[in-house]
Amino acid sequence: MRLFLALVPPPALRRRLGELADAARTRCGGRRMPDDSFHLTLAFLGEQPETRATEIGDWLARFSILPGQWRLDRWGCFRRRGIVWVGGAEGEAALRDLQGQLWEGLEGMGVSGRPARFAPHITLLRRAPRPPGPGLPDASLTWDYTRVELIQSVTTPGGSHYASLARTTIPEESPCLPSR
Ligand code: ATP
Ligand code: MG
Repeated sequence: MRLFLALVPPPALRRRLGELADAARTRCGGRRMPDDSFHLTLAFLGEQPETRATEIGDWLARFSILPGQWRLDRWGCFRRRGIVWVGGAEGEAALRDLQGQLWEGLEGMGVSGRPARFAPHITLLRRAPRPPGPGLPDASLTWDYTRVELIQSVTTPGGSHYASLARTTIPEESPCLPSR
């Protein structure tokens, strides 16, 4: 199973990201991510056996994360892969801490693949021939996140689909749980 850990935006934010993606698609071309696929990848685990997926899901469900806020106010791209994204510096430090914490736990379970660097971003377009530039609407969104999800990526001829397998506990749901 192809797995990753991610934050998934709430529906209202997904719709706003969809509007940005539409505007970006008009300017940059490429393939627009569907609204229900927007996410922030915190850890890409690659191909893992089903037993490992269960183990990671159980581990994730046992703790809650420190809720955070990420300001999305910047367009960016990875030219080589034609990826157009939005991100922002305000709140990035907390995301880095969260990513580090998750990888510590994963490595404790014997998962390898921690990347040398982590650049938080939400992909809106893939294989875009033109970079973002003037004329795009201001990206000005706030993401209040409360939980991390374990997601299975299923590859099909029409593109990848994501299925959420497990998630951390939302702190308000269980105030007695430790934060890790
Ligand atoms: P597709 O590959 O079919 O275009 P996708 O990239 O959305 O679709 P996956 O390749 O399964 O689907 O990736 C799931 C998530 O993990 C995405 O956010 C992707 O950017 C990220 N990801 C994929 N491969 C890696 C990798 N080698 N290192 C870090 N992150 C990765
Ligand atoms: Mg991919």
